[in-house]
Amino acid sequence: MSPPVPTLRVALPVPLPQLFDYLPPGAAPPGPADVGRRLRVPFGNRELVGVVAALGEVDAATLPALREATDWCDETPLLQGELAQSLQWLARYTHAPLGEVIATALPGPLRRGEPLPDTHAWGWVLTEAGHTAAPRLRAGTRPARLAALLSSGPVDEDRLDETMDEWRTAARALAKRAHAERVPLAVTPAPPEVAPGPMLNASQQAAVEAIRAADGFASFLLDGVTGSGKTEVYLQAIAHCLAQGRQALVLVPEIGLTPQTLARFRARLRVPVHALHSGLSDNERARVWAAAQRGEARLIVGTRSAVFTPLPQAGLIVVDEEHDGSYKQQDGIRYHARDFALVRAKALGVPVVLGSATPSLESLHNAQAGRYTLLRLPHRAGEAKPPGVRILDVRKRLIQDGLSPEVLTGIGQALAAGGQVLVFKNRRGYAPALLCHDCGWTAACKRCSTPEHRTPMTVHGAGRRLQCHHCGARQPVPLACPDCGSLALQPQGVGTERLEARLVEAFPDYPVLRIDRGTTQRRDALETQLARLGEAPGILVGTQILAKGHDLPQLSLVIVVGIDEGLFSADFRASEKLAQQLIQVAGRAGRAHRAGEVWLQTHHPDNALLQTLVNGGYHAFAHAELQQREAAGFPPFAHLALWRAEAKDPQVAQQFLDEVRRLEPAHDTVDRFGPMPAPMPRRAGFQRSQLLLSAAQRAPLHHLLDAMVPAIHALPLARRVRWSLDVDPMDL
Ligand code: ADP
Ligand code: ZN
Ligand code: ZN
Repeated sequence: MSPPVPTLRVALPVPLPQLFDYLPPGAAPPGPADVGRRLRVPFGNRELVGVVAALGEVDAATLPALREATDWCDETPLLQGELAQSLQWLARYTHAPLGEVIATALPGPLRRGEPLPDTHAWGWVLTEAGHTAAPRLRAGTRPARLAALLSSGPVDEDRLDETMDEWRTAARALAKRAHAERVPLAVTPAPPEVAPGPMLNASQQAAVEAIRAADGFASFLLDGVTGSGKTEVYLQAIAHCLAQGRQALVLVPEIGLTPQTLARFRARLRVPVHALHSGLSDNERARVWAAAQRGEARLIVGTRSAVFTPLPQAGLIVVDEEHDGSYKQQDGIRYHARDFALVRAKALGVPVVLGSATPSLESLHNAQAGRYTLLRLPHRAGEAKPPGVRILDVRKRLIQDGLSPEVLTGIGQALAAGGQVLVFKNRRGYAPALLCHDCGWTAACKRCSTPEHRTPMTVHGAGRRLQCHHCGARQPVPLACPDCGSLALQPQGVGTERLEARLVEAFPDYPVLRIDRGTTQRRDALETQLARLGEAPGILVGTQILAKGHDLPQLSLVIVVGIDEGLFSADFRASEKLAQQLIQVAGRAGRAHRAGEVWLQTHHPDNALLQTLVNGGYHAFAHAELQQREAAGFPPFAHLALWRAEAKDPQVAQQFLDEVRRLEPAHDTVDRFGPMPAPMPRRAGFQRSQLLLSAAQRAPLHHLLDAMVPAIHALPLARRVRWSLDVDPMDL
């Protein structure tokens, strides 16, 4: 028998659950120092970039089938230490291929095998030969002058640009004789001298001290109303971390990462802030990644995927607005950045701070169970007073384009007093549906509807266009009802465009700014628009994009229109999302100079959720909601995993999930629901089904998934459907 052959076990970005064995490129045998290096390998008739995940060995008998890797992309491991281990954890937790998890974590250029980009400043030094030769150079010549400049140590290229003309010619001359060389300069982080902030109040002080006192991993839930000074707590905790010579990572929701936020961090901490957001190019992302890995980036502030930043000298992780839905990735690798931040903080042995005015029920539950230390900031900091909240009963009122007469009067008064008004409606477009008044027909998207389930198209363009918000399909509004020929087609309900039109008409002397995904395609559009409004009286109308971000010190009145749809949703998280939205948008009022008011316009003034929120606040709501979740056996009292499948052929997705279900080994600790049609049974021409697993304990659920996933990849139908597994799904 011949001895086994040592191999590299490579994680590849392909939807297959295993690692792949390769012989190393060239003659050198595989060794432990190869783990974490990227390399190019032949795969089928393609070439892929993978990462060595482990060393292996195969029986020599399989040798003819074993292929040799093409070449290395790295001299030394790119992925190592904590990040490599945490990504392995994430692959196990999401039951996704490690290669795909790594591909999700790496910026594009690194995923494609490109070298780590330059982040260093470059400078020039004299070699030993250069030092010996320098005195013999002819005085006054450029090489002699440059050699003199370099005689006491390396000099930055920027400095040379400032001090000497045409130094590059001289440098080339010295380099040719090996008297000087170009070197990357180590960046010595200057100890930050922090700008003074406001005197902290007692609750803030207690929070900062608790975080500073953490020795190693500790998790905190910083639970404080909007304007209570959470950001001040982050700033002080970060200042402490930086002063210890450690790196800090701050995660913020996509719409929270405004130039204003970054400027606040920069101004106070006086260190470069490395921002990571969707507006960056791939190359810029790669540079931030590299700078963080080299320890040059000390403070990284970014959205969801910034959670994959390497932090070799980590000291603190902050997750702001931890309840925000944008932390959950909804396709590909379905990770939750907040949860992964906790895993990383633990592996790194550093404190993690989750902050919110409306903590997720998961986090509140964890705090109650003693897994997080609860830090409360119960009052607004500084001068600001909490806004007064009023429920406006609009039953039997004449509502025009979504607005009652009281609301219009209230807006008029607020404007006349010099204030700004925010009108919030979580529906973009002109109207959510187009209805035939004679026969009841509604315009539905052909690609997203089934005979039993019609998905209405949204009316846009002041009533002229129809658009499907699920698949993007567009068409003009028909001239007559396709069912009965009637001309009585009317937009039904209210979206932000319709509110805007009404407000422009009612208040012609004031600016009206509509802010939703339709108007803020570009990243800086929101900022530009708000800057145009400035401090002048005016009206903002928009979706939840308005619920956070830019500070609006002149805002005195917030009107919430038409929350009623959200009160009766089938999704068990709908109440939580609605409560968070209401509290967040209400929190925009009265943040600074002006006392604020919030009016909720509703047809259901006695609704229990609204009453609890208005009378007891978010915590009263959360307390009641957690009890209901416990009684119903929903998260956080249960752990869920959701199989989704979709296919063009009707029934195929359902058949596939039937087979998935039959693969389940015998067990009695995991409940299953389905397979059944998804809440949206058809989208963009695909029939959709789902199968939900639920368990009181995490472990049995994961054991079950461990057993199922490899078998599922082998199902023939797996190739005919698009399927995915979502562990801890947020949308069912
Ligand atoms: P949050 O992040 O909780 O919304 P911020 O940290 O942004 O709150 O604080 C809200 C406002 O109150 C900011 O203008 C901030 O400068 C101010 N502020 C925060 N803490 C204090 C304090 N201790 N004294 C005075 N003003 C404060
Ligand atoms: Zn009709
Ligand atoms: Zn559609």
